[in-house]
Amino acid sequence: MTKRTYWLEHAWLGTEVEPGVVVETEGGRIGAVRTGAPTPPPGAEVLRGLTLPGLANAHSHAFHRALRGTVQVGSGTFWTWREVMYSVADHLTPDTYHALARAVYAEMALAGVTCVGEFHYVHHAPGGTPYADPNAMGEALIAAAAEAGIRITLLDTAYLASAIVNKHSGEPPNHHQLRFSDGSAEAWAERCSVLKERDHARIGAAIHSVRAVPAGQLATVAGWAQQRRAPLHVHLSEQTAENDACLAAHGCTPTRLLADHGVLGQRTTGVHNTHLTDEDIALLGGSGTGTCMCPTTERDLADGIGPAVALQRAGSPLSLGSDSHAVIDLFEEARAMELNERLRTRTRGHWTAAALLRAATADGHAALGWDEAGTLEPGALADFTTIALDSVRTAGPLPRLGAETAVFAAGAADVRHTVVGGRHVVRDGAHTLVPDVPQALSAAVDALRG
Ligand SMILES: [Zn+2]
Repeated sequence: MTKRTYWLEHAWLGTEVEPGVVVETEGGRIGAVRTGAPTPPPGAEVLRGLTLPGLANAHSHAFHRALRGTVQVGSGTFWTWREVMYSVADHLTPDTYHALARAVYAEMALAGVTCVGEFHYVHHAPGGTPYADPNAMGEALIAAAAEAGIRITLLDTAYLASAIVNKHSGEPPNHHQLRFSDGSAEAWAERCSVLKERDHARIGAAIHSVRAVPAGQLATVAGWAQQRRAPLHVHLSEQTAENDACLAAHGCTPTRLLADHGVLGQRTTGVHNTHLTDEDIALLGGSGTGTCMCPTTERDLADGIGPAVALQRAGSPLSLGSDSHAVIDLFEEARAMELNERLRTRTRGHWTAAALLRAATADGHAALGWDEAGTLEPGALADFTTIALDSVRTAGPLPRLGAETAVFAAGAADVRHTVVGGRHVVRDGAHTLVPDVPQALSAAVDALRG
């Protein structure tokens, strides 16, 4: 097994920044971590700057990357944005999606991301006809992650209905949504059960939302995830219209509906959790259900600011995602958590930099079912990323304030190295597997324009 020695000029070890840290890796895992090494040992690979555990991007829809910039004209709401998003989804095939996702995941590696949670719902051909391999789209995403050198949790998503009609049924999928639907939760489970895990890939489940999965079918999806001890994600109360429809049909909030159907729990993550009642917060926190916030997308889509601080206090661990990929920069997601809260409350200091880095690393990985990643300690997967402390953005603060610099000053452009399973995927700011990431992105987006 390949053994490697790294010397980290500075490293964030979960609470404090240490100067001079030696990390030995073997077989893709961290074997030993030694602090107090002022100079690199002979033969060590030198990582100048601040090394963090690899970042987990806990919520992604890779194809939304094709919308970047193009949706920034005119006015509207989440619902008008969704129409534009659907017009891109209409053009995806296993080949075009593979090319786009490979480039998007390469962009993530360049931003320090070592693991992505892909909330995947474009399953079938337009009109809803299954491909010869009914998992062709999911397989395209798993292959794309391998080629971009990062880990993936494919959160295969049940999407069966267009809207809530009443207690018992949903409105059938519209013509865009036909390709998202397996027809029933049982058929969804049957298709997902064929997907195989690999060294770099795990399989999880997702409920698109209480809009898209009728109440009577929620338990089937939850049971599938529970049986496999797999992560289960769900878009939750991103829009007040979802809350209103749920209240009208079921007489309760989406959170209460999920609780009553066995969806909440420690392996479940609610994504957005924007418009919640106090009872919702208590239900999510009390059950240990995680919260994945995607602040750059939430502000882009004019969603609102979710009660992340109250959720964390109630017991809901935080993870972060770049979701629609308006930007791919987990440092920006992390600082937005604190800065949004400052705007809302007109006071400072709701999150420490260390707490936000934990959300972007250990807690993010845990939300994706990779409990053994996201820390720099013996036994953990050898996934880490190094940011420059001498760029125009990060120069100045004392190195011991590295966590604060990472969260409040750095950006994706400061990532120098990304190592996944002991392999350099990004070296000196360049991707080692995808030679020209901007070109790959342009070509993949062009192909979708037809
Ligand atoms: Zn989403």
